[in-house]
Amino acid sequence: MGTNKITVSHKRNDCIGCGACTMAAPDQWSMSEEDGKATLKGAQWKGEEFMVGEIDEDALEANKEAADSCPVQIIKISGYNN
Ligand code: SF4
Repeated sequence: MGTNKITVSHKRNDCIGCGACTMAAPDQWSMSEEDGKATLKGAQWKGEEFMVGEIDEDALEANKEAADSCPVQIIKISGYNN
């Protein structure tokens, strides 16, 4: 088994700035002081709608929780087995 890369995408323009993701996964998510939206650490814009970044496997559970807790469901996690 190699190291899985886990991809997290964030449809950032639709973020309502509730802060739930930062509560669930504070090591990866923070609120921008500029526009009040959440930002995923290390993420890059991919197109105009999505920011995409990678997380380590040990951050998977917290980020799943972040995705589940997002009221507008704009955090998607992919690239892990189950
Ligand atoms: S939980 Fe969703 S809407 Fe709330 S700050 Fe995070 S990404 Fe934005």
